[in-house]
Amino acid sequence: MFFKAPPPISAEIKQLLAQMRLALTARKVYLYSMLPEVESLLVVQNRDQKIDALRKELELIPREKARAEEKLSNDTQAVAAAKAALQENEVAIKSVELDISTRRNTIDRLKVQQFETKKNDEYTAIAKEIVNYTEMVDELETKELELMEKSDVLKEKLELAQKALGQTQSVVDEDIALLDQKAGETKKRLEEALAERETLIEPIDESLLALYDRLRNSKGTDPVAPLKGSQCGGCHMKVTSSTVASVQAEKAISQCENCGRILYAT
Ligand SMILES: [Zn+2]
Repeated sequence: MFFKAPPPISAEIKQLLAQMRLALTARKVYLYSMLPEVESLLVVQNRDQKIDALRKELELIPREKARAEEKLSNDTQAVAAAKAALQENEVAIKSVELDISTRRNTIDRLKVQQFETKKNDEYTAIAKEIVNYTEMVDELETKELELMEKSDVLKEKLELAQKALGQTQSVVDEDIALLDQKAGETKKRLEEALAERETLIEPIDESLLALYDRLRNSKGTDPVAPLKGSQCGGCHMKVTSSTVASVQAEKAISQCENCGRILYAT
């Protein structure tokens, strides 16, 4: 219990209180002649809730950034697959080219043998072999041509995939820039709210503020709660009739005997 002369209320707090009264009236919560200390604490609590919300917003931003970057993964995979397909095709071309050159060398060697032979049947056999190898080279050249055409198609596919990735990248860059901007603005609002809190707590009694901070640590966002009938608005437990009387008398700080929240009459 705190029996202390109410601290002077600054113009700023008065303004905030007027705003809160309006907000509470809109929600059909009416503040009667509340203890000034409790009113001040309610304003601080309102500011603390805003600070919590801003901190939560800031914490979410890295995750939102990661999610934006995930949009790239499909397009990045498509580019990698197109590159791999093209590379594989280029390797196939190299292999066919090697086969062609090996067979051409064989043909050259056979031609020398054919030129050097004196035997007719050997000459004919070599000529047949040369025809065979020449046919093989023709087939391989056809295959090479097909593979080269396929390469053109694959190159086009790769270009399209890269273009799509580029477009997605610019969307993602924009998203990230917006998120960075949001982070900057939220940080600024948080700093402002923290500075406001400093001003708001100045006139509040130190031990009362310590009680409020302790309750905030243990109870969360509403260490100052309304008394609803004979029920604590925080833990919803019934308080004793003497606590109800004390809250309604508004001569001293009253706490819920169950959860310890500071109560105010509604
Ligand atoms: Zn309670």
